[in-house]
Amino acid sequence: MAIIAIDGVAGAGKGTLAAELAKRLGYLHVDTGALYRCATVLILNKNIDPTDEEKVVATVRASKIEAKQIDGKAHYFLDGKDLTTSNSLRTPEVNETVAKISKYPRVRVEIRKAQKNVAKNTNCVIEGRDISTVVFPNADYKFFVVADTQVRALRRQKDYEKQGLVVPFADVVKMIEERDKADMEREASPLVCPKDACVVDNGKNTVEQSITQMLDFIGK
Ligand code: C5P
Repeated sequence: MAIIAIDGVAGAGKGTLAAELAKRLGYLHVDTGALYRCATVLILNKNIDPTDEEKVVATVRASKIEAKQIDGKAHYFLDGKDLTTSNSLRTPEVNETVAKISKYPRVRVEIRKAQKNVAKNTNCVIEGRDISTVVFPNADYKFFVVADTQVRALRRQKDYEKQGLVVPFADVVKMIEERDKADMEREASPLVCPKDACVVDNGKNTVEQSITQMLDFIGK
């Protein structure tokens, strides 16, 4: 089974590229960020202080966070509820809190189980922060997606607008920069670009150009 691992910074368009690549190759697209977001929704819903590591870990362990393949698509569940298409995974509050939850090694262990489970026996394009370094270090192909912060912030602001939310541009930039910093500087599975990855600049490129670069890299 082939594994294509895509890591990269927040809001660079990993999701769009992973979905398109998976579609063209007929592979399953797995968004591991969605699982960390499910864990964050859980903590926020239960009003747990994200800085209380013991409580966060115990709560995540006591809940069921899963990814399942349904009709060729990955779906993300929190305690049996399918949150895949719900806006609840992508609120500004979740965006602000998710890196505080994902930095806990024992949370990562739980989420990693769900990732491995859904990717079992399936060709997949799997995206996140530590996929090519920790989860699947032997992935067949590795990509690292970047884009200029201003470009990423503009896209994120548009995503919020679609949800009916008005968030000042400066706040969006700040949130993105803080999340990148947290993801890159944490001790457990930090975001790093592996030596054997193909770097894709999805700020300079159009999506089509990025996809062409990726297909070239994997020889398709
Ligand atoms: O990719 P996305 O922006 O949805 O990821 C949300 C957050 O989940 C990241 O900022 C990071 O803190 C965490 N994450 C992670 N490891 C992954 C995927 C996501 O720590 N493999």
